[in-house]
Amino acid sequence: MSTLLELFKTMEYGPAPESTAAVNAWLDEHNRKFGLFINNEWITPKGAKYFASHNPANDELLAETMQPGQKEVNAAVAAARAAFGSWSKTPGAVRARYLYAIARNVQKHHRLLAVLESMDNGKPIRESRDIDVPLLARHFYYYAGWAQLMETELRDYQPVGVVGQIIPWNFPLLMLGWKIAPAIAMGNTLVLKPAEFTPLTALLFAEICQGILPPGVVNIITGDGRTGAALVSADVDKIAFTGSTEVGRILRRQTAGSGKKLSLELGGKSPFVVFEDADLDGAVEGVVDAIWFNQGQVCCAGSRLIVQENVAQKFIHKLKARMEHMRVGDPLDKAIDMGAIVDQSQWDTVDQWVKTGVSEGAELFQPDIKLPEKGLFYKPTLLTGLDPAAATVQEEIFGPVLVSLTFRTPAEAVELANNTRYGLAASVWSDNVNLALDAASKIKAGTVWVNCTNQFDGASGFGGYRESGFGREGGKEGLFEYVRPKWMERPRPDFTPPAEGTKSAWGEHIPARPPMPSIQRSNGSDKPQVDRTPKMYIGGKQVRPDGNYTMAVLNPKGEVMGQVGDGNRKDIRDAVEAAHAAHLSKPGWAMRHGYNRSQILYFIAENLDARNAEFVERIVEMTGRTKKSAQAEVDATVERLFTYAAWADKYGGEVQETTLRGITVAVNEPMGVVGIVCPDEYPLLGFVSLMAPAIARGNTVVMIPSQKHPLSATDFYQVLDTSDVPGGVVNIVTGDRDHLTKTLVQHEDVDSMWYFGSAEGSYYVEYESAANMKRTWVGYRLPRDWMSREQGEGHEFLHEATQVKNIWVPTGE
Ligand code: NAD
Repeated sequence: MSTLLELFKTMEYGPAPESTAAVNAWLDEHNRKFGLFINNEWITPKGAKYFASHNPANDELLAETMQPGQKEVNAAVAAARAAFGSWSKTPGAVRARYLYAIARNVQKHHRLLAVLESMDNGKPIRESRDIDVPLLARHFYYYAGWAQLMETELRDYQPVGVVGQIIPWNFPLLMLGWKIAPAIAMGNTLVLKPAEFTPLTALLFAEICQGILPPGVVNIITGDGRTGAALVSADVDKIAFTGSTEVGRILRRQTAGSGKKLSLELGGKSPFVVFEDADLDGAVEGVVDAIWFNQGQVCCAGSRLIVQENVAQKFIHKLKARMEHMRVGDPLDKAIDMGAIVDQSQWDTVDQWVKTGVSEGAELFQPDIKLPEKGLFYKPTLLTGLDPAAATVQEEIFGPVLVSLTFRTPAEAVELANNTRYGLAASVWSDNVNLALDAASKIKAGTVWVNCTNQFDGASGFGGYRESGFGREGGKEGLFEYVRPKWMERPRPDFTPPAEGTKSAWGEHIPARPPMPSIQRSNGSDKPQVDRTPKMYIGGKQVRPDGNYTMAVLNPKGEVMGQVGDGNRKDIRDAVEAAHAAHLSKPGWAMRHGYNRSQILYFIAENLDARNAEFVERIVEMTGRTKKSAQAEVDATVERLFTYAAWADKYGGEVQETTLRGITVAVNEPMGVVGIVCPDEYPLLGFVSLMAPAIARGNTVVMIPSQKHPLSATDFYQVLDTSDVPGGVVNIVTGDRDHLTKTLVQHEDVDSMWYFGSAEGSYYVEYESAANMKRTWVGYRLPRDWMSREQGEGHEFLHEATQVKNIWVPTGE
């Protein structure tokens, strides 16, 4: 028997297991077999197939859930569709009460939800009890507030419709809350599919909804990826997905051209940067929370440790010592740091990655701690000495494995942090507030935690840059994933996508022979006019097309009224390079303050107005419209420039009211390089309505003007030239619209693509964007009144021109 002194010396915790009795009783009530939750009823079709859900900590069978087919998925969507009419018309203040009731009942069932979550997923009860379930309730309270305020604060918006939601297994309840709360707050109805490894808490949540919500508002269907795919192809108006980048890519392609709204919360390989002046002990605790929270199965896990070289040895030493004290074991034990990996297949993947790391030259460290004999446990793991380009450093492992790198200067730290295709989150540690915030502003990620990590709250948006996806969950910014402008119908494009694998001729282009010249004479003069071919505009210079081909521009009578350069791939590449350089150069366009950008936009407006009559004449000539109509277009264009001069210093972001003691700031950052394909209607106004919001918010752009009427755009570069617009901020490439679009959308350095051409082109832009998951905004060739202020300017445009970064800075001792 141990003496008190021995116990004191070893300081071993005794086991403190949470009881499973209530969960087992609930599972037994359902005979450990669940159907689908549709229309507030449990549906169990005859002959349905089921699959098992096990507890990964001890392999015990928990229950069986259904694997439905397309028919059942369609039935769930039909139930949501039927409920949409009345739910979307239910006043926001009434919907708020429903959300409030859900939040209250989540709190009333706190323990049951937390224990079931830990049993189904393997995460420590400490986390499910103190983080997952409280945050679930928090999201419903937060969005109950937005339901209450929708009619006054979002009066120009309407719900999207029926939403299909697909979530992963790492935070089954939390991801459900992130998805369901904003969706129903804004008046949408939905069908949600939890992951196949962890469906049970979603079903318990369904039972909570059963007693609260009208039938059909929330429907929950189980099943694996096939059910997910069936949901995506069903008659839904939006898909909200959280999961791997690989599946996100599939969904981008599957929904391309359909008009279904899409938000993707994908994977990450987030940097954890430690500067030499950081509180190293605090940062070691931060690493523990960053990478061993939820066994490292966290999309925003700080899985890439980047430490300043002169403190690296000391830091790694402290970290290893801390790892020796980690407790891995029964998730229901309240004194456990790490629970079980969700499934054998995931355990094998993690283990394989560790072996890969070793084969890539890593030094492997795992603490000398005991794991339970049974169950899917894995030791906290550290891999040091890897090359930054190693696969283990670049790829998401999604397990308790940390890789570590070193840097010398702050610039190198930022470079290493950004050396990834992802951009979900980052954590920066330094006691120098200037240094920390400078790094936070330069790291490309949707969330940056300063001297803290893995902070979440309903009031702050969460989501990715680059291949971590697009869209935000949480905060006011999260609402825009579930609303559409009031004037806009649900897009139902008039184009049927080709069968997968079909070779397409879209974007192929053979330059046409330019028309033979016919000399022009000015009115009343014998002298021929000076022959002039509008050039392209790249890097602030007029340039000839690389291929030396031109294209005829016809007037409405079909007569040749001019020629423009017929751009090719090389021209687009040059333009992207110029835009990229202008974005990054010191000080890049994005780094200029809003005041400066607004001055330049006012200057463009002034210079355009000075040449008002000339532009009116050009529009009449090109389009055959009346002078009055052309005059209205030019006047509206000048006004639009004023609008975005106004917005250039008024859309920077806001302070979020999260639960953090400190400040959480949402910064509306530019997307980067935006490729913009202009509509044919309103050749000048369409061009400026898209260019102006993009540059006002710090993006640089590659513009493809209307193919039919490009001359207003080529005249416009003279206005840009005289308005102090730095070279490369606006680049204009003329030619075959879809040929140029294809190169633009496939370009790695284009961060976002806006396309207002054909419905077919909209499909290809969305489809091709999947290669590097760039954000897209397409028009599907649906009507938009560019002249109206409601449809042609404002928040929709600013929203597309920016991405939100949330920076969390705790204060206090
Ligand atoms: P996953 O992509 O394999 O599965 C996610 C969900 O998609 C599951 O419900 C699955 O059944 C479904 N699915 C699979 N194939 C599908 C298809 N073809 N069509 C439709 N649905 C399909 O991801 P996972 O392994 O469950 O989760 C881990 C991933 O999730 C990691 O990459 C992680 O980074 C990411 N994640 C991201 C966030 C975020 O907010 N960005 C949050 C949590 C997890």
